[in-house]
Amino acid sequence: MKITKIHDLYFKEFVSKNEIDSIVNELAVQIKSDLPENEVPLFIGILNGCFVFAADFVRAYKGDCEISFVKLASYNGTSSTDKVKKLIGVNEDLEGRTVVILEDVIDTGTTLQEIYEIFKTKKLKELKIATLFFKPDVYRKELPINYVGKSIPDSFIVGYGLDYNSYGRNLPAVYQLTTQPKMKNIVLFGPPGAGKGTQATILKEKYNLVHISTGDVFRYNIKNETELGVLAKKYIDAGELVPDEVTISMLKDEVEKNAGVEGFIFDGFPRTESQAIALEEFLAEKGEGINGMVALEVHEDILVERIIERGKTSGRSDDTDEGKIRNRFNEYNTKTAILKDFYHEKGNYHGIDGVGSVEEITDRLSDIFDKL
Ligand code: AMP
Repeated sequence: MKITKIHDLYFKEFVSKNEIDSIVNELAVQIKSDLPENEVPLFIGILNGCFVFAADFVRAYKGDCEISFVKLASYNGTSSTDKVKKLIGVNEDLEGRTVVILEDVIDTGTTLQEIYEIFKTKKLKELKIATLFFKPDVYRKELPINYVGKSIPDSFIVGYGLDYNSYGRNLPAVYQLTTQPKMKNIVLFGPPGAGKGTQATILKEKYNLVHISTGDVFRYNIKNETELGVLAKKYIDAGELVPDEVTISMLKDEVEKNAGVEGFIFDGFPRTESQAIALEEFLAEKGEGINGMVALEVHEDILVERIIERGKTSGRSDDTDEGKIRNRFNEYNTKTAILKDFYHEKGNYHGIDGVGSVEEITDRLSDIFDKL
């Protein structure tokens, strides 16, 4: 779940593209099955918002149908107004037809009522209403809505055809208005031994952020022989990842312990796609998000040598044996490296060359931190 900025406002993902797809498919199947066998319905989309929904809907509708559009404008900024503009209408002869009105979202119902009244004068065989989203808390009309994709609370939504001041219609998912994020949250990324810990220690001071290293938290728990430590030890000793469930809940606890801070540097987390998704969802619940993933890019061969060198003094059980070290890289390459694509797709990946002196690398990282 990502926070996205449109104009001056912030939105968080509310209904994913996948969920929308299944809602639209269900609506199409249900409407088809409610109509007589050979009926050719005329779907009428209410522009502008419904153009994406209507396009997906008619392709999900398995049967002959027609589609047409009418236009009324009722939105101005983020609140629905009662001023309904003129209908730019349907010219087809509608007598004896089955018409299904397609709406993207119904809130007060004012626009819908007006359109409904116009269609009622057209001697139709039947008139039905289908809406992708419905806001029951603000609906003020008696008119029955035949098909509701999803009932939602009364908050402003954007995406999948719906706009905020004309922007956001092309977003594939639906987003909900949220508050401006206050934190700077950065995922410091890179293979084992890339220098994430060293850099995080410097950068947390420079940017007044809290550094959470999941590896350090595990090692602390192992040292103190806590329940979590006992559980994690066998994985860490073998150079394997600790199961997601355990790691995610531990990470959440660490974040909760630091309420009110300016932000976090996450080091060693997320390491799997489920961890990345869990982190986004968890932060989005707080109206926060990940500002970016900053990655130290270093070749594996250099790193194995570095880790063996570090193992002479670090006291880490997983730093000494080359087999264990190779296993950590194997875990990285098979489970963690894909996160580059995960953040890249969101335009949130920033890679830097991780070979150089500590100061050089801090400078390269700072250039990115400053922009995020
Ligand atoms: P690190 O100090 O980040 O290299 O982590 C050392 C070890 O702790 C890893 O090899 C894993 O066994 C475990 N670990 C740390 N972070 C995670 C994570 N996000 N998910 C699963 N295991 C982790």
